[in-house]
Amino acid sequence: MGPRGHVVAQTMVLALLAVACSPGEPTVAAETENSTTVGRPDQSNVGTTETGDATSETIVDPAGPAPDVIFHNGVVLTMDPRLPQAEAIAILDDKVLAVGSDDSILAKGRVGTQIIDLNGRTLVPGFIDSHAHWIGDSEWTDYEFLDDTIQYMIENGWTSVNEMFVSPGRLEKLQELDRQGRLRVRVNAYLPINFLEQRFGRPYLEYTPLEEVTPHVRIAGVKMFVDNDWGHIVNWTPADLNAEVQAAHQAGWQLAIHAFSVEGHSMTLDALALALQGESNEAYRHRIEHVVAVTDEQLTEIQERGYIASIQPNFPGNIPQGDPTFDDKVPEEDHRFLTRWQDMNQAGIRLVAGTDWPWFTNESFLERGGAPAGSPLRLIYKAATHTDVNNRVPQPWMDGQFLPVGAALRSLTVDGAYATFEEDVKGSLAPGRWADLVVLSDNPLTVPIGQLPEIDVLLTMIGGKVEYCAEGAENLCAVEAAHSD
Ligand SMILES: [Zn+2]
Repeated sequence: MGPRGHVVAQTMVLALLAVACSPGEPTVAAETENSTTVGRPDQSNVGTTETGDATSETIVDPAGPAPDVIFHNGVVLTMDPRLPQAEAIAILDDKVLAVGSDDSILAKGRVGTQIIDLNGRTLVPGFIDSHAHWIGDSEWTDYEFLDDTIQYMIENGWTSVNEMFVSPGRLEKLQELDRQGRLRVRVNAYLPINFLEQRFGRPYLEYTPLEEVTPHVRIAGVKMFVDNDWGHIVNWTPADLNAEVQAAHQAGWQLAIHAFSVEGHSMTLDALALALQGESNEAYRHRIEHVVAVTDEQLTEIQERGYIASIQPNFPGNIPQGDPTFDDKVPEEDHRFLTRWQDMNQAGIRLVAGTDWPWFTNESFLERGGAPAGSPLRLIYKAATHTDVNNRVPQPWMDGQFLPVGAALRSLTVDGAYATFEEDVKGSLAPGRWADLVVLSDNPLTVPIGQLPEIDVLLTMIGGKVEYCAEGAENLCAVEAAHSD
C-alpha cells in the first residue's frame, strides 16, 4: 500500500465513523413538476417464462430447444426451493434452459452444444450485492478507471449490484457506461432524497418505479438517511420524515431507509407504518439499510410488517476496536441491540447483504491478496464468524449473532433478487431465469467455515456470457467461444 493508500484508508475510516456511507459528491436535484405514472407494474409477468413442473425432480421444458452450453458433473446450488441441489444445468442464449441430474440434462445436448465438465465444482447463482457504491464512490478506491472496478467486481463473482446513492450525474454516468458496453453487471439505482441535512428534492418523480433506463440499469427505489454517527446526528424531524416517506410511498416507490440507532429505527418504523396504513409491505418491499441497533420490540415489528433488513457483514468488523469514540457513542448497555443478524434470521426477517463497498471495508479495502473484503465469500465468512480480515476476536456482543452459511448465501442471491422485485428473473437457477452464475472452487455449504475465504471464483457468467475466467480454469470457459461471434 502506497502513501496515497494510507491516506485514503484513513480518510475512509474517519469519514465512515463520522457519517457512515458518504455519498461522495452529491448533486442537488431540482424539484420537478412532471410527475409520471405511479404505482407498480404488474409483478406477475416480470420476465417469468417458467415451464417447470414443481413436483418433478428435474425442471425442464420438454419441448424446449437445444442448449448452447451444458455444465455437468457438479454441485449446482440453485437457491430454488423446488430443487435446491442439482448436478447439471443447461443454458440457452441469456437464460437457464433446464436444471437437473446429469442424465436428464446431458440428454438435452445436441450437435453444437458445448459440454463443460465441472469436475465436482460448485455452481451458484451470480452474487447480488444489495448495498454498495462500487461505481458511485469509486473515486475513494485506488482503482483509476471504472472499468477496473467493474472487472474487479466480476472477478469476485458479483453479477448484480444495488448502487445506493445515485445522484442525477451518477445516473447519467451509469447509462453512459451501459451504452458503451462497459457496465457489464446489472445495476439497480437508488435515488437519494437527502444526505445529512442536505435535501435533494424528489428526483424519483422523473421516473416510473422499476423503470429500466438502459438494459443494465433500473431505477429501483428511493434512498433516505434518517440518522448518522451512531444516531448522534438525526437528519429529520419526525414530521418531515413522515411526509417524505409518505410522498415516495404514495408515488409507488420502494424506500431504502438508512437507520443505525434505536432512535433512528423508531422514527423509521413509525414513518413506514404511517405510510402503509396497515397495507402489506409485499407490494412495496420497503427496506431498512444497516439495521444496526434494534430492540426486541423493533425486531418484532420488522418481522410482523415484513420489512427487508439490509445488512453489511463487513460491519462492524474492525470498527469498535479501531474507533476510539465507539465506547462514548454506544453505551455498553446498548451493545445488546447491535447487529442482531441471527436474531433477525431466526425471527424469519428477510435479510439481504451487501458490502457497502468501498465503505465498511476498513483498511482491508486496499488489500489485493487473498479474498478481499469486496468478495461475497469473504462476506459470508464475516457473517458466519464476525471475524475480520485481521482475525481479531469478535466482541462479546457479537456472540450468538453469527449467521448460518446457508442464510448468508440466501441473502446474497435469492433474497437479494426479491429485494429489487427480480426473484422471477435472477437470484436462483431455474428455467427462464437469466444465466447469471458463478463457478466456485468449492462448496460454501460444506467446507469448514475457516476455509470460506479461500474459495476461488473460477468463472462468472452474466446473461449467458462468460465475463470472467480465472487463470487455470480455461477448460470451464470454452463456452466463451459460443458467444464471441
Ligand atoms: Zn452505503
